[in-house]
Amino acid sequence: MNTLYWFTDDLRIADNPALVAAASDTNLTCVYCMDDAYFRTDRFGNQPIGKHRWRFLCESLRHLNDELLALGQTVNILRGDPNAAVATLLKAGRFDRVIRAKQHTYRGPDPWDRLQTDFPDIRFDEFDVSTLFSCKDLNFEHAFPNTFSQFKKAVGTLTYRNFLPSPDRLPTSLIELENDQLETSGPPGKQTGGATAAALHLTAYFGGKAASTYKDTRNNLLGEDSSTGFSPWLANGSLSPLQAVKQLRHYEATYGANNSTGWILFELLWREFFRWYAEYHGDKLYAFEGVIDQRPLTAFYGERFTKWRTGQTPWRIVNACINELNATGYLSNRGRQIAASCLVNELALDWRCGAQYFEEMLVDYDPCSNFGNWQYIAGVGADPQGGRHFNLEKQAEIWDNDHAYRDQWAKSTPPESIDSLDYYDWPIDAEKNGSS
Ligand SMILES: Cc1cc2nc3c(=O)[nH]c(=O)nc-3n(C[C@H](O)[C@H](O)[C@H](O)COP(=O)(O)OP(=O)(O)OC[C@H]3O[C@@H](n4cnc5c(N)ncnc54)[C@H](O)[C@@H]3O)c2cc1C
Repeated sequence: MNTLYWFTDDLRIADNPALVAAASDTNLTCVYCMDDAYFRTDRFGNQPIGKHRWRFLCESLRHLNDELLALGQTVNILRGDPNAAVATLLKAGRFDRVIRAKQHTYRGPDPWDRLQTDFPDIRFDEFDVSTLFSCKDLNFEHAFPNTFSQFKKAVGTLTYRNFLPSPDRLPTSLIELENDQLETSGPPGKQTGGATAAALHLTAYFGGKAASTYKDTRNNLLGEDSSTGFSPWLANGSLSPLQAVKQLRHYEATYGANNSTGWILFELLWREFFRWYAEYHGDKLYAFEGVIDQRPLTAFYGERFTKWRTGQTPWRIVNACINELNATGYLSNRGRQIAASCLVNELALDWRCGAQYFEEMLVDYDPCSNFGNWQYIAGVGADPQGGRHFNLEKQAEIWDNDHAYRDQWAKSTPPESIDSLDYYDWPIDAEKNGSS
């Protein structure tokens, strides 16, 4: 077989069943599509890929290329519309097979479907690469568990897909493509992209004892090892969830399993849940009315959204979260919940503008986890309680009792009001000052 391998969210060589399948073909050409749509601004003013993830992605791809070079291969960067870019290659008639990692979601029509229609003589194969379970072992095509608890129960007795080591050789390339250099500017980030950095992080995390207290610390707003920090590498596939679980098991065998080590797996199951949830619900993952088909009572207040995304709300705890996100591309799970609850409940904004802002800013953006969690908080997702409204004062008191987080990330005094105009277009400050 002459195979085109399409890298997506599987930017690694190890534990990559799709790449192992490609390794036994006659010829192999590897590509990654840098979609034009990444750089287009949406109607809320967000761009799908911001500077943090762009840097991380470029580092990950450069590292992947180095790993492939050692096996006699290279990853070619295609630019433009993925459907058109891949179709151009296939039209030349040199390939009889296309392989990629199974995708659980795609906003809009997935080019994969269109390509299969347009090239009926070519074989298209997808493999489970980004999940713990194999699609064939799950039985969710017709009904998906309504809640995470039901999902957990349903997969409780299943075994994970097989862990696969790196192939020791890859076939040579059929064609030479003119390759793009991936340029990034700005200082390095907190996390470095690529499988080696992921492996180093994994080893360092399980080299200490943080996993044994994870359940008590995972909600902290500050602290390097409060949570595992695996998410950026998991999101673009430089790290597989099975690699993480393997190290977790090794840690448990060495230091003993407890509630905290078990909770790491519990959280990885949340990730797993949102992957299959996204696949089952299709476009509803991105729909205003969510998977429950109910439109929330919100509107679009431009000023409120601008203030939220620039950390200028009346709540210092929210401003601190947003400022951290903007500066680093990362935010703890608790911080994400606080910022999202504020946007949905206090500001009464369309949850999708927050989700799309997170998409731009997060270094670990993963459509399934991001939109799944936003839907959960907005009450249009998988939450049996019908949404989450966090009391911001209480959250600050519990999670930032000593003000250390707010002092680090939100030094200035917040404004008293989120709006500068009242509902009748009356300037609020002027009215208060009695000058109107
Ligand atoms: C509004 C909102 C948006 C989010 N957007 C994303 C996103 O784009 N990408 C992303 O990876 N996670 C997202 N999360 C989930 C979670 O906040 C992050 O996975 C976590 O904070 C990453 O840090 P960590 O790796 O240290 O997590 P840990 O607490 O160490 O958890 C270990 C792993 O479990 C998974 N996990 C943990 N919590 C969740 C969760 N609630 N949902 C799904 N998986 C989870 C992640 O893969 C994580 O790396 C979002 C949560 C909220 C509330």
